[in-house]
Amino acid sequence: MTSDDETGEGDAARVLRFPLSRTRPAATAGSYADLGAGPTARRLGMRESQMTGHWCSRCRGIWFGYALEVECPQCGNRHG
Ligand SMILES: [Zn+2]
Repeated sequence: MTSDDETGEGDAARVLRFPLSRTRPAATAGSYADLGAGPTARRLGMRESQMTGHWCSRCRGIWFGYALEVECPQCGNRHG
């Protein structure tokens, strides 16, 4: 009889941490346009702190919306 060395318990204690919530770029005046919020985020009644910032290269600005939204609310650009 050999006693198996089970060392599985250490792994269970390992906790995956969520990355710290990304800080939104501070309002640095003039560097980008505020394009407002996306329609989905508005429909869901999301707060700005819950929204994700999306860059639109066409408008050269940032709009905030639901994380999975990809379309700029101003010009409809979907390519960031
Ligand atoms: Zn745009």
